Amino acid sequence: MSGSGSSLLDDVNAPFDDHWYSDPWIPTSDEVIGLGLDAAEEASVRLGRDAAAQMSAIRQVLVDAARYPEVYVHDASAKDAVDFAVRGAVFDLATRLQMSETTVRNLGYQAEILITRLPGVWQAFRDGMVPVGTARTAAEVVTTLPDDDPTLWAAFDADVTPLATTLNPARFRDRARRIRERLHPRPVAERHADAATERRVQIEHGPDGMSWLTVYAPSHILQRVRVRIDAATDKIAAAEDETRTRDQIRADVATDILLGTATPPSTQVSVGVLVPVQTLLGGNQPATLEGVGPIPADTARELCAGAPSFFRLLTHPVSGAILTLDRTKYRPPKDLQRWVRIRDPLCTAPGCGRRSADCDIDHTLDAARDGPTNDTNLGPMCEPHHRVKHRTKWDIRWITDRRMWTSPTGPSYDVDTPPF
Ligand SMILES: [Zn+2]
Repeated sequence: MSGSGSSLLDDVNAPFDDHWYSDPWIPTSDEVIGLGLDAAEEASVRLGRDAAAQMSAIRQVLVDAARYPEVYVHDASAKDAVDFAVRGAVFDLATRLQMSETTVRNLGYQAEILITRLPGVWQAFRDGMVPVGTARTAAEVVTTLPDDDPTLWAAFDADVTPLATTLNPARFRDRARRIRERLHPRPVAERHADAATERRVQIEHGPDGMSWLTVYAPSHILQRVRVRIDAATDKIAAAEDETRTRDQIRADVATDILLGTATPPSTQVSVGVLVPVQTLLGGNQPATLEGVGPIPADTARELCAGAPSFFRLLTHPVSGAILTLDRTKYRPPKDLQRWVRIRDPLCTAPGCGRRSADCDIDHTLDAARDGPTNDTNLGPMCEPHHRVKHRTKWDIRWITDRRMWTSPTGPSYDVDTPPF
């Protein structure tokens, strides 16, 4: 048959004739980019699904090791057989998966938490709609709610599931914490008092002769520390011959203060506190500390009562009158800037994690095009995103009360303004 294969060869070549080649699909530039975006998105969906499958499998191995300890221990009837069987299985997984044993335990535990307490997030995670970091954050936050209250878990699950499929991990963490604050049945003042007993200083050594110093203390104190360091840094950075980056200056200022080796330039600093009027009158609605988030009502009342380094903003319809200002003024007045930075603690670009303290206050609709200088048209925007706004076809506008960022390739994203 070897010499008579020409007809077979003709058949094989049939689809590749001139006609087939003469009309190729030449994608437009839009389609080229669109295909790339689709490929990246599809890969993310697969990654999410695979991560969920991995966590589920790790959990199952640990459950099965407890059920069949004889696989791992010599004497399955010993009192500690299950404990050691699970340890053996953790070690087994860590070796096979090139993970630390702590990671294996955390993944298994978080899978258990997601399955038992957050079925909504778990399902969306398994469908590839939630990134693994976000799913793990949800599990981490829900474990700080009481261990015996399934109604609370269900309420948390219902609130965070839609956010888990839209926000990036950093923003999701922030929102999940706020939701947890709102749902927690124990008064925030009690929880804060308990947590404050855990305050401490830790030092962690890194490579290349460097280390991290961590201070765990009440937020309102550390926020003042931060504002003081930032203010001193601003002064130093303004010097013409200064060559250090702001991060480097901040580190030098902080260590100088702690060692008493240099006095930072004196600065007038104050931290904004956003307080519901009812709270000031004795209510329990948490207040919001600029750059931090919710703080207990008691702490807020104390701060408002005297401390000169705090700057009070009441959340009441009356305060709205201060906020809408003369539209002929281009530069937003200080108080208005302040309020906008507290309302939007981060750059208003979707997913951006830069602190509003490091951002400019941007007119969503440019002042040159009659955009008013009031809180509904202002938002913090970091320099890189400011450039994206002005130099690219990304479109930013208010639609009812949401700021929408619309991509040149079509999709729109709304900016999650934190609810107060
Ligand atoms: Zn940004």
